Amino acid sequence: SHIVAIVGRPNVGKSTLFNRLIQRREAIVDSVSGVTRDRNYGKSEWNGKAFSVIDTGGYVRGSDDIFEGEIRKQVELAIDEADVILFVVDVEEGITPMDEEVAKLLRKVTKPVLLGVNKVDNAMREKDAIEFYNLGLGDYTTFASTSGSGTGELLDNLVAAFPDKPEPTKEEIELPRFAVVGRPNAGKSSFINALIGQDRYIVTDIAGTTRDAIDTKFDRFGFEFNLVDTAGIRRKAKVKEDLEFYSVMRSVRAIEHADICILIIDATRGFEGQDQSIFWLAEKNRKGLVILVNKWDLVEKDTMSTRDYEAKIRKEIEPFTDVPILFVSAHTKQRLLKALEASVQVFENRKQRIPTSKFNDYMLKVIEGHPPPALKGKYVKIKYCMQLPTPTPQFVFFANLPQYVKEPYKRFLENKIRENWDFSGVPIDIYIREK
Ligand code: GDP
Repeated sequence: SHIVAIVGRPNVGKSTLFNRLIQRREAIVDSVSGVTRDRNYGKSEWNGKAFSVIDTGGYVRGSDDIFEGEIRKQVELAIDEADVILFVVDVEEGITPMDEEVAKLLRKVTKPVLLGVNKVDNAMREKDAIEFYNLGLGDYTTFASTSGSGTGELLDNLVAAFPDKPEPTKEEIELPRFAVVGRPNAGKSSFINALIGQDRYIVTDIAGTTRDAIDTKFDRFGFEFNLVDTAGIRRKAKVKEDLEFYSVMRSVRAIEHADICILIIDATRGFEGQDQSIFWLAEKNRKGLVILVNKWDLVEKDTMSTRDYEAKIRKEIEPFTDVPILFVSAHTKQRLLKALEASVQVFENRKQRIPTSKFNDYMLKVIEGHPPPALKGKYVKIKYCMQLPTPTPQFVFFANLPQYVKEPYKRFLENKIRENWDFSGVPIDIYIREK
């Protein structure tokens, strides 16, 4: 889907707007997965078009007295990673020097830039907003993020600005697309080089192609796959990716573009905040996941066994624990083939379609033996279920009283599905509908 980045100086109302844009979808996703959500990244939809929103300001620490350098980095990153840039300004404050700085950067950009003037909630302010023509960015849209007035028009304009994306070819759909993701220095480039060979990994960095992730096709060990070239690898030298924001945001496009995310973790550092952010970003996008604990050659095996290490990671990724975790070394090439095999397996798992008759045979028996708990003396009956013909595994169960089927029971159903069919590494959605 398309990526929208919100930029602007602190306190113009970026995060209020962000929350407003993602609200509805987010609530649904959260109740399904029970996952803590990333405050700076969310999925949204308008007029049938799905898109992701990134609040770049949300990632900048101490953003009350943000430095000019910081905002420049924020904007440059948005320019690199987003399809549309939404520049938010504040009519109460008018044009500040920092707004001018941002506008100067954005004027050079070929991507669509939308200027949104916030806090416009009366005719007087509508008139005041005229001064923003001075930013040299053309027309603007006025809105008020706290009340929500004008945000519909803002969304219309946003969606209209989305560039057309080419339809994926048949081959692109059939071949797994892997994105190697992880924080800086986890060993992503080393892993890729070890896997496909330094000499074979020739990246053509064509100017102007930064807009989209680049797929490179490989044929290794009898597997055919595309590697999504992550921005981090190609543009390593450009920004020092020491902040969480940069590595997470760098991962967004690669994750969205991929089928399977191969998350590389530095064994000497453990599964930390940044790793977790990237993990949940992939999960939220319903991508397949494989976790590779890299640099395993550096870990003293008497102090930390694979089993303990694995258990620790699984604890962190609850409730989505059904994910392959492998211990690898890009240096000694330990278990690299296994890692590739596991990734291909997750791709297959994600594509699998269970015939409706088989699904009913198995699941209805499970439900009969362990029905949803009765509520207020009423019994919930599930008589039919099926997998939906969706790109990622989704299942629907038809019940007489769908609202009585609660989260724990849904999780029970999910676990049963996972016990009987291999959905390892694949997020699953369960819906209960009225029959
Ligand atoms: P990236 O930023 O994620 O692409 O990380 P790099 O591939 O550049 O690796 C960061 C550093 O970790 C480099 O110095 C690598 O040589 C080192 N490194 C990567 N993988 C391994 C590994 O499996 N074992 C050891 N000992 N070092 C590794």
